[in-house]
Amino acid sequence: MKCKICKSDTKVQFITKILNKYNVRYFHCQNCGFLQTEEPYWLEKAYKQPINDIDTGILQRNIEFARVTSVILYQYFEKTSPFLDYAGGYGIFIRLMRDIGFDFYWYDPFSENIFAKGFECSEEKNFEAITIFECFEHFANPLAEIEKIIDISPNIIFSTNLLPDPVPDINKWWYYTPEHGQHIAFYTMNTLKYITEKYSLNLISNGSYLHLFTIEDINQKKFRKILKKSRKYFNNTIKKSMSSRTLEDMHYIKSIIKQ
Ligand SMILES: [Zn+2]
Repeated sequence: MKCKICKSDTKVQFITKILNKYNVRYFHCQNCGFLQTEEPYWLEKAYKQPINDIDTGILQRNIEFARVTSVILYQYFEKTSPFLDYAGGYGIFIRLMRDIGFDFYWYDPFSENIFAKGFECSEEKNFEAITIFECFEHFANPLAEIEKIIDISPNIIFSTNLLPDPVPDINKWWYYTPEHGQHIAFYTMNTLKYITEKYSLNLISNGSYLHLFTIEDINQKKFRKILKKSRKYFNNTIKKSMSSRTLEDMHYIKSIIKQ
């Protein structure tokens, strides 16, 4: 199997049982370090429920991402522009971002939108940046998916946990989660670098789980410094200068329900 990112040769890293049923090989790229499973034929079973039952971190993660994303958008992007949360799931993140004051919209063909009804993505909007959390590791065809996203906006804030070096054994890294079978692509910093070079974008990263592909020229050191102080920055600056859309959104939703 060739690497799905850089097309180099891979070696079988290990074999494990996915969904407690299928023996699956994991291939490690000898060039960029990307780790991928063999072609994932089990996905239909794995996605019977799009947001899986063992995801106890869902709320905590959304709150944390909302704070950190606010800091990034406020600092580096046109903060009054529309933004898109790609694969928005139930819409928790979009609601949180609108509550903070950012004009966020929702796109997800696979999940029911519960919390952000009325804020679906529309084609005429020009999105300043896209957020996409906990998705890259689900991609069966990463480059095709990434190209789709770049076509919407070349500024992408995303999360995925970088594969440690050396590659951990299957039972030594919680992120593999073979029991639900949805995590099938694991990136290294070199993999991300390869992708950004391919599409002429800049790569900024906190070095572990949060990354940016962007056309903006952002200083990596400063970026990490700001993220370290994100709680303070969020409470002292963003919360004081942005105005929440919660009430305004309620009136808007009321108006569309009446129609
Ligand atoms: Zn590779």
